[in-house]
Amino acid sequence: MDQDCLFCKIVSGDNPSTEVFRDDRVMAFLDINPAAPQHILVIPLAHLTFLSTADESHEGLIGHLALTADRIAAERGIQDSGFRLTINQGPDAGQEVDHLHMHITGGRRLGRAGA
Ligand code: AMP
Ligand code: ZN
Repeated sequence: MDQDCLFCKIVSGDNPSTEVFRDDRVMAFLDINPAAPQHILVIPLAHLTFLSTADESHEGLIGHLALTADRIAAERGIQDSGFRLTINQGPDAGQEVDHLHMHITGGRRLGRAGA
């Protein structure tokens, strides 16, 4: 755990969240400022700053993030209508929280990817 990391504090329960899923490697909670009718964040329990600091040892974890996101989308009724998975990496992508996270957005027709 990184003592200064907002998402580590959500993992530990020191910061509140609306949790929708947790297992031994990842958890998911509702985004506090949703950009779409459905906006969920899926994060590793262990602190990992960026996608670009991950290495081969994280391949399983990152795959698990994506598959978990798909299962959550199904549970929340947006698998068939469609959804988007996004990882913001660095300043041009607007990354705000330095703990790797995957956004699930859906529940309406989304704009062009990358906009
Ligand atoms: P990013 O720009 O990819 O770093 O995304 C960070 C996301 O975290 C944004 O969509 C924020 O709305 C969301 N966020 C920030 N603080 C919280 C919080 N305490 N609980 C839930 N989501 C948060
Ligand atoms: Zn963290």
